[in-house]
Amino acid sequence: MIAYIEPYFLDNESDAASILNVTGKSSDGVSESLNIQGEIFCGGAAADIAGKDFGGMNCVKPLAVVRPVGAEDIAGAVRAALSSDKLTVAARGNGHSINGQSMAEGGLVVDMRSTAENHFEVGFLAGDGGSGTAFVDVSGGALWETLLKRCVSEYGLAPRSWTDYLGLTVGGTLSNAGVSGQAFRYGPQTSNVTELDVVTGNGDVVTCSEMENSELFFSVLGGLGQFGIITRARVLLQPAPDMVRWIRIVYAEFDEFTRDAEWLVSQKDESSFDYVEGFVFVNGDDPVNGWPTVPLHPDQDFDPTRLPQSSGSVLYCLELALHYRDSDSNSSVDKRVERLIGRLRFDEGLRFEVDLPYVDFLLRVKRSEEIAKVNGTWETPHPWLNLFVSKRDIGDFEQKVFKELVKNGVGGPMLVYPLLRSRWDDRTSVVLPEGEIFYIVALLRFVPPGAKASSVDKLVAQNQEIVQWCVKNGIDFKLYLPHYKSREEWIRHFGNRWSRFVDRKAMFDPMAILSPGQKVFNRAL
Ligand code: FAD
Repeated sequence: MIAYIEPYFLDNESDAASILNVTGKSSDGVSESLNIQGEIFCGGAAADIAGKDFGGMNCVKPLAVVRPVGAEDIAGAVRAALSSDKLTVAARGNGHSINGQSMAEGGLVVDMRSTAENHFEVGFLAGDGGSGTAFVDVSGGALWETLLKRCVSEYGLAPRSWTDYLGLTVGGTLSNAGVSGQAFRYGPQTSNVTELDVVTGNGDVVTCSEMENSELFFSVLGGLGQFGIITRARVLLQPAPDMVRWIRIVYAEFDEFTRDAEWLVSQKDESSFDYVEGFVFVNGDDPVNGWPTVPLHPDQDFDPTRLPQSSGSVLYCLELALHYRDSDSNSSVDKRVERLIGRLRFDEGLRFEVDLPYVDFLLRVKRSEEIAKVNGTWETPHPWLNLFVSKRDIGDFEQKVFKELVKNGVGGPMLVYPLLRSRWDDRTSVVLPEGEIFYIVALLRFVPPGAKASSVDKLVAQNQEIVQWCVKNGIDFKLYLPHYKSREEWIRHFGNRWSRFVDRKAMFDPMAILSPGQKVFNRAL
């Protein structure tokens, strides 16, 4: 069936002209190829759907948005672009990128959310005799939040590795890494999938895994959308716990914070917490950046008299969680917690904890989303900066960045916690700093409504200053969710992995059709 256009949304003649390019009267070959079952939106409607992202700092006009019904439609869009002179194709997950990564100026945007319901099926890995590791096959356009709810309520199972916020698509996070407080144990989300269906930049629909078409499998994981569009992922599952004890403990000294965090993530499986994260906050009563951001319940108060005299402008919080079952007694949970916490050197009296259902714990950021939507900061720009910094350099980074450049906070969380390189697969396209332990640093800036454009520019400039400082001082770091504008910067980012990235591009998307918003390659003419 030829795709149908939503005539309502045409707001002017140029929109109509765009459609002609897509549907039939053009001479660039697109028309013959774009033969799909799903919907197509052009002009203003396309810009409404895919012209902006969560970052709110980029705005582009796609030629059209395709809402596919499945992989064949997506392949149709890629083939249409291949047969044109200049069209590109961007998969759009939930558009939660910061710097226009899922946009396509003048190109086709494939709205993956229209495929969200495809494929949901739970099974067991072959060779486990039916009693081994469970998995779920899920659409690349499904939200992690939906996956959580369905897996837990229908099967009592859950994925092992998460992001903090779950309003993100499976394909979107797998194209980066997908990191949260479980990654020290299970690795990022890219280490927790065993098979993918992918539409390559050649327009082929390919199933891949470690054993089958493995080069494509590892290229796509962490591949920034450059090699293919993930239409199905096989995600590993584990039995879902019923409850979580969620704990925050405070440190005045960064050294002690990192020593304890590193000790916790280096313990053998099962002998640590199930989740380890951390954040930096301002030593003051600022409601957005300071003490009030630490307690986990309205009944809890942060008592600053418990802080040592020596404490500085910023403080550090370890955030921990332990899973348990309804059938576990309180005293056994207490015992497991105390055995671990007794080893840690946080500031006495600055410990907060709550017990809550597992699903509520994983959906904890949804509450922040609701608050931000009410106060308007969900819609304002988000000049976020995410980096991986080696253990070797995290002390210098903290002195310069946390203690100096952002000592008054960023209007949102400033995450910092350790991860283990051995839990990441070197064959994926992700690049990391050297050494077994490295830190994720996330400056999640929120801007008040009504802030001037110039104040957002200043925050962007401060992010650049941090990156420049890292480069100049030889800090071993990589941007996470990277965004660069020049070829030189991408080459530096990938380092000795650049040639592999280029070779993979030549193999799977030789015309550079895919994810132009990442600005790594230009569409071949
Ligand atoms: P999009 O932004 O739509 O797309 C991202 C990139 O992937 C684009 O290049 C796009 O073309 C490509 N892409 C999208 N879908 C596919 C697909 N199916 N196949 C191939 N390529 C595709 N990240 C973490 O790791 N941990 C966190 O805790 C975390 N928390 C976050 C919280 C918030 C509030 C936000 C806004 C982001 C957070 N992120 C986190 C970052 C997030 O993982 C990335 O921004 C991710 O890309 C967003 O997913 P998305 O589905 O919106 O993808």
